[in-house]
Amino acid sequence: MTAPTPVPSITSPAMPHVMNTYGRLPFALSHGNGVWVWDTNGKKYLDGLAGIAVNTLGHAHPRLVPALQDQVAKLIHSCNYYQVPLQEELAAKLTELSGLTNVFFCSTGLEANEAALKIARKFGHDKGIERPEVIVYEKAFHGRSIATLSATGNPKVQAGFGPLVEGFVRVPLNDVAAIEAEARSNSNVVAVFLEVIQGEGGINPATVEYLQAVRRICDDKGWLLMLDEVQCGMGRTGKWFAHQWAGILPDVMPLAKGLGSGVPVGAVVCGPRAANVFGPGNHGTTFGGNPLAMRAGVETIRIMEEDGLVAHAADVGAHLTSSLARALEGESGLVEIRGHGLMIGIELARPCGELLGQAAEAGLLLSVTADTVIRLVPPLILTHAEADQIVAILVPLIKSFLAKTSP
Ligand SMILES: *Cc1c(COP(=O)(O)O)cnc(C)c1O
Repeated sequence: MTAPTPVPSITSPAMPHVMNTYGRLPFALSHGNGVWVWDTNGKKYLDGLAGIAVNTLGHAHPRLVPALQDQVAKLIHSCNYYQVPLQEELAAKLTELSGLTNVFFCSTGLEANEAALKIARKFGHDKGIERPEVIVYEKAFHGRSIATLSATGNPKVQAGFGPLVEGFVRVPLNDVAAIEAEARSNSNVVAVFLEVIQGEGGINPATVEYLQAVRRICDDKGWLLMLDEVQCGMGRTGKWFAHQWAGILPDVMPLAKGLGSGVPVGAVVCGPRAANVFGPGNHGTTFGGNPLAMRAGVETIRIMEEDGLVAHAADVGAHLTSSLARALEGESGLVEIRGHGLMIGIELARPCGELLGQAAEAGLLLSVTADTVIRLVPPLILTHAEADQIVAILVPLIKSFLAKTSP
């Protein structure tokens, strides 16, 4: 017998048994408190990333922790064979805050989007459209499943995973003429699917005028307006949901990231046109809506309401954005600072991925998305003083990065 050929290791040296799917910085976080986290060597960081817009209430929140401990001790998971009163409690809250009517619960963002896409297709079939198509966007990100990566507008996410799911038509963001052209020419369209502020694509907001125009076109054509608020929802922009800045209502709104403050919770919130598309047997998930996840959602929203964190996000976000703008004014190589509330992108003229590690070294967690955009999505509990500390750490790093590389 010949010995098997050794398989070359492609995994990270520090985590040799974990599949090598992420570029990781060389430290591990051990615990946190508020917007602060510590690594296993005791180094302290200001968390400007919140686990990618997830830790709404920061870390070890003094009212969330005992509520989750209480729930863990009672019931973590039951089953969707039975009534789950906490699902009704969270659904009632989400419909009250959104003005929509019904909710399906799952565990992640891509699952929420997958459910939305299934709703769109069945909505089409119910109308007699045999090959329903969904309008999606350049630079969009909707997840990593086969269907959601097909809806995603990033060739890097799709490379190697073809054949892609069909039934998508792609248009540029904020281009009303492009969507009007589809409305005139394509009778298979059943829905428009977009992020109100593109997250992974580089913090690119849909304009208020564009959102209002798309709502009008959807109404005219009988299409579903499906707004992926997985990243921009749950108070981050200073409204409960980012589309509320445009004064419109979607028909379908996938949520996840910030909803459970770190416990995996996804939700698809639907209005009357979409809420009854699924019937028994059409969709399901084992973990979705389990009592621990629902309790995390209920308590997150309760604490956000008690502490006025949505208005706070608008206020501290405006302070952080204007402080950054003032400190970086006139820097050549700064393209734009944009976003809303505590979803902020700082676009530089060149790829700036190295700032991720440099910021961590300097004690600030953030991310760089779309190669050139520094993304700040801190916990919504961030104070003005902590926002000032972000500026104090980040601005010198950006200035020296730009100084080093400008001609
Ligand atoms: C993160 C994200 C997703 C995917 O969520 P997962 O929980 O990672 O599956 C989908 N849409 C948007 C807008 C996101 O930011």
